[in-house]
Amino acid sequence: MLTKNEIINLLNTTDEKVLFKKADDVRHQFVGDEVHLRGLIEFSNICRNNCLYCGIRKGNGKVIRYRLSEDEIINMARFAASMGFKTVVLQSGEDLQYNIKKMCYIIENIKKFNVAVTLSIGERSFEEYKAFRQAGADRYLMRIETTDKDLYHKLDPDMSWERRHECLMMIKELGYELGSGIMVGLPGQTIESIADDLLYLKKIGIDMAGIGPFIPHPDTPLKDEKGGTLSLALRTMAVMRLLMKDINIPATTAMESLHPQGRIMALQAGANVVMPNVTEGEYRKFYELYPNKICVNEQPRQCRTCIAMKIESIGRKVGTGYGGHNNKQPIKL
Ligand code: SAH
Repeated sequence: MLTKNEIINLLNTTDEKVLFKKADDVRHQFVGDEVHLRGLIEFSNICRNNCLYCGIRKGNGKVIRYRLSEDEIINMARFAASMGFKTVVLQSGEDLQYNIKKMCYIIENIKKFNVAVTLSIGERSFEEYKAFRQAGADRYLMRIETTDKDLYHKLDPDMSWERRHECLMMIKELGYELGSGIMVGLPGQTIESIADDLLYLKKIGIDMAGIGPFIPHPDTPLKDEKGGTLSLALRTMAVMRLLMKDINIPATTAMESLHPQGRIMALQAGANVVMPNVTEGEYRKFYELYPNKICVNEQPRQCRTCIAMKIESIGRKVGTGYGGHNNKQPIKL
């Protein structure tokens, strides 16, 4: 168990190679050499929120908005499963058009392909989370973004940090595997507050930690901010691995958007998961959370092949199982 001061010192290290090596050793020892792939479907970029950092915020009038139909989503998931993905992640803005009936129809049909289903659709009611679980959803991803409440309320107007925390607790109580995480390099965020974030994620007992650099989007109020560095994002992720040795940690897409080898660097500094985009057609370029997002002109099969080659090039292998936390299946409701 690391103290807050020790975490701060590690985050500030001038010798990051040593930190990355340590995180890589812990990753090897506790979760092995398999890299689990999750096929990501970005099914709607319509959002009721106005987060200052996010390219698909409600207030960004320049975005071409889209919303996939239930059957389009199911077909993309079928294709992902046929390419060998054992997990499908459904992500969107907070789009309430996908109500209980629609989401449950989507989840139930995707479960027929024998894949784990992860949802990443933001804040909903207990009743909704429960219905989605009963329909077969296994995991849920929702970043807390920051535990600095003042910063959170500045960056996410009309949202409540407490409400987000409560949602994470409901998701956990319902027996989902819980993924959460943060962005690093937010304007006004300190190293000390990142240390608090890591301790928070440990305290709530997450199963997966998604950590990425904040990248300023030109059509948002934060367009002139500096953004996070790959180095700080990698250090934060490596310390997370030391704090929670056996959880799943993705090499995030935002990391690769800052550096062509970003995900490979992450896989060698504690990460054991990658989430290739399996959204078909031209939708992925409209799901622009931040600029320079990678692979917007690729199609699913190219992304699957490309990432498998990268994984094998560093002596690792693509996971063959569902790749849950500790390889446990989430409790069936
Ligand atoms: N609406 C869902 C999914 C959101 S998008 C939810 O609220 O959970 C997924 C993640 O992208 C966000 O949680 C945020 O951490 C990240 N993100 C958004 N804008 C970003 C930016 N400009 N740079 C880097 N990451 C960003």
